[in-house]
Amino acid sequence: MPLRPREELEHFRDLGIRDVFVRKAAAPGAAGGDQPALVPGSMPDVAALAKFVDGCRRCKLAGSRTQIVFGQGNPNADLMFVGEAPGRDEDEQGLAFVGRAGQLLTKIIEAIGMKREDVFICNVLRCRPPNNRNPEPDEVAACRPFLEETIRLVAPRAIVTLGTFAAQALLETDEPIGRLRGSWREARGVRVMPTFHPAFLLRSPERKKDVWEDMKIVRDFLAGK
Ligand code: URA
Repeated sequence: MPLRPREELEHFRDLGIRDVFVRKAAAPGAAGGDQPALVPGSMPDVAALAKFVDGCRRCKLAGSRTQIVFGQGNPNADLMFVGEAPGRDEDEQGLAFVGRAGQLLTKIIEAIGMKREDVFICNVLRCRPPNNRNPEPDEVAACRPFLEETIRLVAPRAIVTLGTFAAQALLETDEPIGRLRGSWREARGVRVMPTFHPAFLLRSPERKKDVWEDMKIVRDFLAGK
């Protein structure tokens, strides 16, 4: 039979142990200060990173999410898409960009002659913020090592950021998306093409032509033109 806490302490005392350190249990949803930090460059592949991220409680979103949305696709993709954060559909299914915006993203990918399975799709955050509110700086900081390690492991030739938030977070700038989009930037040694978010295009379809211009630049670069 297991010892009760008091008996256990008495047992330690009888063994001559005077100090016992007990790790404080994290409240449900509390940031998991007890979870190990990711050592950059330590993960052998994307599957190992996904396993490391599994069950993450490193920020407060752990308390409200349904599932972690690690991201999915070709782990050796030439092209990677980075969005903001999972929405309701993504939180339910555990997959990035599967809602209405995701369906539009599929069309954008197909418009440049690729398939969803060819590319890698993920977000700045791996967990849904409650009611799709904007990500907060501590959440971005907690999740950034996972994004950076994903970029290192996938080693894409180009990254397309979707929307203001992803562009500003990855490029560490506060330039507006209207100025950022349409020309190459660089992050972590990889070319980055900021473009509009498909959710924005659903509200403002007249801006689809801008995204098409941006995606043609990406297509031509990948084709070696
Ligand atoms: N919006 C995003 O930024 N990411 C998703 O995965 C879905 C919607």
